[in-house]
Parts: sequence; structure tokens; C-alpha cells
Amino acid sequence: MTNLGPIQAPLPEALTTFLAACAAAIGAGHVSVSAVDLADWSLCTFPWSGHPLAVLSPGTAEEAVACLRLAGLHGCPLHPVSRGRSWGLGSRRPPRDAVILDLSRLNRIIDIDATSGTVRVEPGVTFSQLQDELTAREIPFHVPSFGGPPSASVLANALDRGEGSGAFGDRFGQLWDLDVGLTTGERLRTGYGRFENARLAPVHGRPVGPLIEGLFSQASFGCVLSGCLGLAPTAQHGCYIAFEIGLSDKLPAFVEAFTGLIRDRVVDYHDAFFWDGAKQIASAGIAADLTQPPPPRAYEEWLATISISANHAMILDCKKAIVIQTLLPFCSSFTIDEDGEPGSRNSGLRGFSDGGNVTSCYWAKPALPDGPLNPDRDRCGFLWLCPVIPLDGVALARMAQLTQAAARQFDIFIMAGAEAATERACHGYVSFAWDRDVPGADAKAMAAHAMLMEAFTREGFHPYRPTLPATAAAAPSQGDWAAVVRRLRHALDPAGVLATGRVADL
Ligand SMILES: Cc1cc2nc3c(=O)[nH]c(=O)nc-3n(C[C@H](O)[C@H](O)[C@H](O)COP(=O)(O)OP(=O)(O)OC[C@H]3O[C@@H](n4cnc5c(N)ncnc54)[C@H](O)[C@@H]3O)c2cc1C
Repeated sequence: MTNLGPIQAPLPEALTTFLAACAAAIGAGHVSVSAVDLADWSLCTFPWSGHPLAVLSPGTAEEAVACLRLAGLHGCPLHPVSRGRSWGLGSRRPPRDAVILDLSRLNRIIDIDATSGTVRVEPGVTFSQLQDELTAREIPFHVPSFGGPPSASVLANALDRGEGSGAFGDRFGQLWDLDVGLTTGERLRTGYGRFENARLAPVHGRPVGPLIEGLFSQASFGCVLSGCLGLAPTAQHGCYIAFEIGLSDKLPAFVEAFTGLIRDRVVDYHDAFFWDGAKQIASAGIAADLTQPPPPRAYEEWLATISISANHAMILDCKKAIVIQTLLPFCSSFTIDEDGEPGSRNSGLRGFSDGGNVTSCYWAKPALPDGPLNPDRDRCGFLWLCPVIPLDGVALARMAQLTQAAARQFDIFIMAGAEAATERACHGYVSFAWDRDVPGADAKAMAAHAMLMEAFTREGFHPYRPTLPATAAAAPSQGDWAAVVRRLRHALDPAGVLATGRVADL
């Protein structure tokens, strides 16, 4: 039996031979081992031990496949990065020492089907690039907006099972017909793109037979070179309604009433967000800018933001009235934000991501920088925990309780929020923000993160999205899951070189 365990970092001679072969395949100018580049690629919002050994920047899908094949041939660990904006999840750091496969030059919007509302993109295509293209061509569809940086990769965010607002917010659920390169040198399409007449490829994602897209999500068992993404139809009218709920003991009644709105299809899941006071305060500015600190209770007050959109003003008005009437008895007050002019593309409800939320990474820094925000370069401490919470107010209140206990015990700033991801469950967003320049702050934050993750695991609130530390510390799975998935991985990446350490237990 071949050894399926993790491979070791390559010996320097093996790495040199591999890089020389890559330089012949993609051009020496696109292979970097410069100390300056490697230092830049090593930046992260938390301490981590895996290092980039070199950076390969292929310019085409064929060149990327050549690098993958050579990595398999030479047994050299390779870690794919599309845009590397995974701030708080791992930035551009590999789980273990590896050469980086930088896919940012693969930045073509290959095809837009304006009738069906689908798009085929390469991994380097960013949210702002796609939104600008859809707006310029007046296409009545959009990519659901999100709180992350607009310079992130649409495809990588979908592969990582990221989410945006609205009914099409489950990005992986809207992704199909992946073009995948393997370290064997093979290349395959997972959808109808594999047939001679590929007419169905942009409109239907589930061809007969086993569906294998899942093997490339949060796993990188292969490198995805492009994929087809379903876009959301852009509604003319929309608004946000924010409900002040109060302390976490008020969550159960509010969430129960809210769940009825989702079941009745008045509100879509991914349209409702719950925020604690810490997250609300950090959205408005950083700690250093506060003239006086808010009272401790303010950090623990919960708010729900519900977005509603419709193509007809009357439908919007009806939905608004039903939402307010249903939730009014369970909140202390509410406000309505009409969200710009009808039809404006500069709206979060119509695909515009402004990246404003990234300032929350700077909460503990002495000041915000003047130029573009880059939490890696600005030495922000930032780390997510992403637990799934049943869509039930008692469970949500428990998440709040555990989070506040950790914040108090470690005297660290933790923000908590959750988004209804289905009719039955929420995706929790718990983020830790600190200043990496303060001595001892890294160690304290990592200890608080480990403790809270353990508390969530004990509660059965397992994660839906990986961060490097959470994956490394994950509890072993029961039964034969790991053995079976290890064999699947071995079939796709026999040398075991691609993104090693990315999946817990493997
Ligand atoms: C303040 C803040 C708010 C945020 N809000 C949101 C939010 O609302 N919703 C949300 O979803 N995210 C959110 N994020 C998370 C983050 O912005 C995204 O996950 C971001 O999209 C990741 O960066 P990227 O797209 O450049 O992916 P990358 O960093 O390039 O890749 C992400 C992962 O996928 C793997 N990968 C990349 N490309 C490929 C490929 N082609 N084939 C195989 N594997 C690949 C990488 O190895 C890496 O592990 C937020 C982050 C911050 C800091």
C-alpha cells in the first residue's frame, strides 16, 4: 500500500529541480523565490508555522496544469491561492510549508449568459471586476454582495463555501461544471461541459451520475481553473430593516417569530443577520476613535438586520408590513433604510460589496491607514470561528453566552453574528480582533480562540468553514470517514502534494 500520510517539505535540491522545470513551463519571470516576495506572502493576521517556499504565477489554465503535473512528478507540496484575501481564515499562508500556486493572473470572465443569468469565471476574477462588468453591460443579474473585500476571488469564495446576501447567497450551491486540474496532469469538467454538445453546461449543474464538485470544495484535492456560477436576478426595489432586540435573553422569542417569516417565504434565508453589540460598534469605527467607551452592556445588545427586495414596489411594501408586524412585539425599536434609488447598482441588495466591513479587523489598532486596507500588511490580529448554530433562539443565546464568557476571561475583543443559512440552521460569525504589535496579544488571542472553539465543539456547534488553527485542532471524526476520504484524495492526488493539511484528519 502506498504511504498516504502527509509528505515532508522537499529537500532543497528537489525544490530547485522542481522550480527549474516550472520556469521552463511558465517562464522564469513567473517563478519567485525572492526574499521580499516570500516575506510578503508570509504575512498573516495570526501566528502560523506553514511557510511559502516559492511562488508560481501561471498565466493560463494550461500553464497551471503544467505546474500541478510537475508538483506531482517531483513530490513538491503546492498550495493554490486565487486572490489570497482569506483574512482571518489563513490569509495566503499554506497549512504546511509549500510552494504557492498563485492563480491571480487567470482573471478572465470567460462567458456571461445574460439570458439564463450564469457566468463562467477563472479564479483570479474579483467581486468588483465581475460587478463592474455586469453593471457596464446592464445585465439584470448580480453576484450576491458580502462583507468581505471586493478584491477577493468570486470562484475561491464559492469553493470555500462563502456566502452573500439573499436567496442566491449560498455560493457553492450556485457553482457547477468545474474545470479541474489534478497533480496527475489530468484535467476534467465536472458538469455537462464534459460532453461533446455542452449546451446544458451553463444552465444545469447536475448531470447523470455521481456529483464530484464537493471533492474540490474546502479541500483542494484538485485545482479549480474555472467554474460556472448562477447569478441572482436583480430586483428594482429593496430595503433593510434593523430591529433592536436587547440582551441575548430576548433572542429566543424574536428568533421563533422570525423563523415563521422564513418558512412562509416572506424573507429568504441569507437575508437575515443577527449581530451582537461588539460587531455593531466595530462596524462604526475603531476603538481608538471612540470619544468615550460605550457601557459594557452595549457590547451585549443584539440587533437583527433583515433585507427585503422585490421587483414590484407593492410587493416590497407588503413584505415590509408583514415583517414589521410579526417582529414588532419582540423588539424594542426598528429603523428602515431604503437603500438608495430604485434600481441602483451601488447597493448591497444588488451585488455591490463595498468592503467597509474590513475596518473591523482594525478594531484594536491605534489608527486606520490612509490608503487601501490590508490587514496582513497592517499587522491586524484577526481570526474567525465559524460554528453552525441551529436556527433557534436558545442556541443562538448560548453562542452569545459562550462568546461573552471568553471575551471576559481573556480580556479580548470578540464580535459575534449569525446568518440564517437554511430554514433550520444559522452560520455563526465569531471574530477576534487584536493588535499584533502589542507584546503578548497574539498568544492571548490564540488561547481565547482555542478555548472558545473547544466550548463550541462541546456544545455540538461544529464549524462550516475552515480556519487554519481550527482545522489543525479539530477533534477526530468518528467511524471510517477519514480513511475513506484519504483514499479518495489519493486517487486524485496520488503524490499527496496538493494543499496538504487543508482538511482535518487527513
Ligand atoms: C471583515 C471580513 C468580512 C468577511 N465577510 C465575509 C462574508 O460576508 N462572506 C464570506 O463568504 N466571506 C467573508 N469574509 C471572508 C473572506 O473575505 C473570503 O473568504 C475571501 O473571499 C477569501 O479570499 P479569496 O477569495 O481571495 O480566496 P483565496 O484566499 O485565494 O482562497 C481561499 C481558499 O481556497 C483555496 N483555493 C483558492 N483558489 C482555489 C482553486 N482555484 N482551486 C482549489 N482551491 C482553491 C485556497 O487554498 C484557500 O484555502 C470576510 C472577511 C473579512 C476579513
